[in-house]
Amino acid sequence: MLSINSDRLKKSVLELSKIGYNETDHGVYRWGFTDADMEARRWMMEQAKAEGFETFMDGAGNVFFGLGDYLKKPAVLTGSHLDTVPAGGIFDGALGVLAGFEVLRSIKENDIKLRHPVWVVGTAEEEGRFGGMMGSQAIAGVLNPDWLMSAHDADNVYLKDAMAAHGMSVMDALDAAWPPERLKAFYELHIEQGPVLFQKDITIGAVEGISGVFKWIVHLKGKADHAGTAPMHMRSDAFMGLADFAHEIERIIAEDGTEKTRITVGKVDLKPGSPHTVPGEAVFTIVGRDMSPDVMKELADSCNKALSAIARKHRLKFEYEQVSWLNPQACSVKLTKQIEEKAKARKYSCLKMPSGAGHDAQFFTEITESGLIFIPSVNGVSHAPDEWSHWHDVEAGCNILFDCIIDSAQ
Ligand SMILES: [Zn+2]
Repeated sequence: MLSINSDRLKKSVLELSKIGYNETDHGVYRWGFTDADMEARRWMMEQAKAEGFETFMDGAGNVFFGLGDYLKKPAVLTGSHLDTVPAGGIFDGALGVLAGFEVLRSIKENDIKLRHPVWVVGTAEEEGRFGGMMGSQAIAGVLNPDWLMSAHDADNVYLKDAMAAHGMSVMDALDAAWPPERLKAFYELHIEQGPVLFQKDITIGAVEGISGVFKWIVHLKGKADHAGTAPMHMRSDAFMGLADFAHEIERIIAEDGTEKTRITVGKVDLKPGSPHTVPGEAVFTIVGRDMSPDVMKELADSCNKALSAIARKHRLKFEYEQVSWLNPQACSVKLTKQIEEKAKARKYSCLKMPSGAGHDAQFFTEITESGLIFIPSVNGVSHAPDEWSHWHDVEAGCNILFDCIIDSAQ
């Protein structure tokens, strides 16, 4: 049985991790369409080109490289994202792109003859700086001009401006769509980013589906007051409203959620932000996730009701903007089974499981059969500098990706 070259893969992972690396907190900073993010895209194309693969970047910033003519025969596509959250880890996204690269190199050096083209994609803006998964949405053809023009990050930087800073035009993302007939299958290898595989000591996760996610930016507006002179009962303290909502999250999940529900307030801004002033405004994000679109709707509804009641109690004005809404997506039953079978053949332990985090693969499910492979995250940590996966698991995951791609492209 042929295997991938794990040392070569490890070397690539470590090399890419240097782009955007911060010496102080040891995190990787490749937030979508920042300089470091674009540098990683150029690096990936250079690497692929140096080994004789065809490469290009599409209008959405997705980087492609591969073997064979996908205009003649449907391609087997694999990959993940090259961007990271601020202070992210070295495996999230990068592993899926570099494992695809390693699969290509293994196909080439072993001179494996395949009927279908095999291509790899390093997608753009998967981490949702601008509220979506722009790169894979562009490939799936689900972007629209209104969203592209209005998309902005939590600091009010617009997507169109962030792209223009790198000489890109946001509307070109609309030309990045792949017609379904050009694809045979899509595979993504990703770290689990949760504790399940690690705690159960299982090597491979065969993912059945990906939870949906919604993101809100909430404004609670009260009145900024002198912290010394404004009596406690006469305040419109926006922070108190936010604090009350934080306590409601547990109840909302108990009443309307499932064991797969997650609700998170991850970014908070108090204005004017002075220790001696009653906060007149609280701006914060809510991110909700579940495997069922109906449950997601109920959760969103409950957040809305809870915040309205809290606003009345504290004499605040409540407004929110729904920045994104991504429905849950099922992976291909056939490919999930294929992943399980390949794991069995290599004697790797394997678990069929849902994904609590969103991934590029969820948009590929709209245009082709999609399979998602997980490997364990040590202690379940991700989106943090101490994100880690053991190299033997990295190797195992890449071998399964290799086996699945060879099988599909034959
Ligand atoms: Zn990721």
